[in-house]
Amino acid sequence: MQQQAVRKKGSVLAANRYHRQVLFAPIGEAGQEKLSQSHVLIVGVGALGSSSAEALARAGVGKLTLIDRDYVEESNLQRQQLFSELDMKNKLPKAVAAKQRLAAVNSLIEIEAIVGDAEADNLSQLVSQVDLIIDATDNFETRLLLNDLAQKYRKPWIYGACVASYGITFTVIPDQTPCLQCLQDYIPQQGATCDSVGVIQPVVQKVTSHQVTEALKLLTGNEANLSGKLTAFDLWKNQHTEVDVATLRNPDCPSCSEARSYPNLAYDARMKTTVLCGRDTVQLRPQSKQVELAEVARELQKNKQIQLVRNPYLLSFEVDSFRIVLFQDGRALIHGTMDQMEAKNIYYRYLS
Ligand SMILES: [Zn+2]
Repeated sequence: MQQQAVRKKGSVLAANRYHRQVLFAPIGEAGQEKLSQSHVLIVGVGALGSSSAEALARAGVGKLTLIDRDYVEESNLQRQQLFSELDMKNKLPKAVAAKQRLAAVNSLIEIEAIVGDAEADNLSQLVSQVDLIIDATDNFETRLLLNDLAQKYRKPWIYGACVASYGITFTVIPDQTPCLQCLQDYIPQQGATCDSVGVIQPVVQKVTSHQVTEALKLLTGNEANLSGKLTAFDLWKNQHTEVDVATLRNPDCPSCSEARSYPNLAYDARMKTTVLCGRDTVQLRPQSKQVELAEVARELQKNKQIQLVRNPYLLSFEVDSFRIVLFQDGRALIHGTMDQMEAKNIYYRYLS
């Protein structure tokens, strides 16, 4: 009896909660039920990831998995809507801070936070389990990796990127649309980054507004309404372009054709040192993964000049002109250099 009452109360709460969305005819009760049964992977929890995650959590997507390698910094607060000054002070990993905030927004859904790099091994496992992937990464290598994995497991994914006042998005459906590899020549890949030319917050919202709407269409069985176009815009210059790319599917594409070889999966396996573009930072990813942060901290504290900041997920300290951050999965960020050898030297000097 009591259980029934609780269940009834829960369903009444949920009915109120999603009422305006259920009233929207293309979604309706059936669509809402499909959303509650859906599992979405969001790769990257920066500006795009924060915005998509909040929208999908509020919409009632049953399970969200968030993966991000970074932690909250002051320069994120202008546009990364899930984070607070306290998250910054505590140097919380973005995935963890996002989960805390999202759980406060919607306690009826499940949120999984993964602090780690989006690389072939762990992404492969995640991609195979979800219904849909939202791209919210900050680099093209990871997008190409996602593209290959999405093709391999036949999962739809929604590409999105922005810089300055420019944004671009496209929904990739395996066996139907061109993939990112097919469209490489039509998409800007390098050059300007948010760290070199900046970014304004509304452009983030516009990209995720497209991504989340496409996600809702896909998840609620409204595929007929998908855009099918490559959408690009510049909010400052008042430009909006929709490019019909249906004919651009490459019959010899190494990622989505019959003769596919998934070239980006092999490439990722070799990547161990990454210069984080425009951030004056090198990321090092040693082959042995887990580290004992407590043990490393004990060693470091023998050096009285090192001021250590620690939380359960990472430790951070400054030495000379560098700031070093070590995560539990063994990754390290060396801020203050773009020289990979120098970064390795610092790593071996202090962290091994
Ligand atoms: Zn392709």
